[in-house]
Amino acid sequence: MKKILALISVTLLMGVSKTEKSSSVTSTPHDHRLCNSFPANHLRFPIKNDGKQITRPQFRKILDAAEGVYKPIFQSVGLGRFYIVDRWHDDTVNACASIGAPCSKGAAAAKGNDRYVEMYGGLARHPYMTAESLMLVICHEIGHHLAGYPSYKRNTSPMSTEGQADYFATAKCSRLIYSSLSPKTNQNWAWANKNNIPAEVQKPCMNAFGNTEATILCLRGSLAGLSLAQTLGSLNNVDPRQLTFVRKDPSVVQETFETHPKAQCRLDTYVAGAICGADPRTPFSATNPNQGACVNQLAPGARPACWYKAPGPSGLAAR
Ligand SMILES: [Zn+2]
Repeated sequence: MKKILALISVTLLMGVSKTEKSSSVTSTPHDHRLCNSFPANHLRFPIKNDGKQITRPQFRKILDAAEGVYKPIFQSVGLGRFYIVDRWHDDTVNACASIGAPCSKGAAAAKGNDRYVEMYGGLARHPYMTAESLMLVICHEIGHHLAGYPSYKRNTSPMSTEGQADYFATAKCSRLIYSSLSPKTNQNWAWANKNNIPAEVQKPCMNAFGNTEATILCLRGSLAGLSLAQTLGSLNNVDPRQLTFVRKDPSVVQETFETHPKAQCRLDTYVAGAICGADPRTPFSATNPNQGACVNQLAPGARPACWYKAPGPSGLAAR
């Protein structure tokens, strides 16, 4: 744990390549059979074999870990078969969740009910990405299927909104996956000893969970959120140094914002999910926003007001 307490700045990786190729994410998101992780973009990261990019076996291992934990969970909640589609050779900077067919195989028109997450190598090869933020992307996509309220189209779609998928990613999914991996390998403690964690990340996690493994899961989720927010920001030329754990997005929505929030708002959501003390094994509900969530807007861990507006007493739509 000693190293966790070391103060160090996050490495900022510069020099984003912009080689363009045709995108495999061709369908429009939010026809409610598919959702992307990021807005459509022209960034592409081909395989370089320069020793700096994530490797093929590392990519595969992360997909396998997530699929292994979530296949039985999809079955247990009655959503049937779940697949993570491996598109390592696709240079697209995105990921996609869909129902009926993978996004690149006509999900928008598909009729079936199988659930898919499609992962592109280009996103994994983005220089801001880490193994943890790649896991968070998978978790975000799983969140479109499982994160419950609020879902798209004022909670009438089967797919959860972007902000809710982000909240699910750190509040539930990455914690479950890293907990399931750790009993055999002490992987969380190994991660903590290998990484230097900024003080502003340590403090809220320590306050929430004390000197326990749950604190490490909180740290892993928070730092993954920073990496992912920086990657998202890079699509809009946001300086990664502008994204911080201290200065939150001050905006307050009057109704729930369903599509992709800005990068700082997404970081705030990842951190909120990471420090929420609700049991990660208690699922979110499609109709009850309080189930499994932190709901006190004045306390740490609640969904941020930069995208989320809690419903009034009669504001819940059944789906
Ligand atoms: Zn998404």
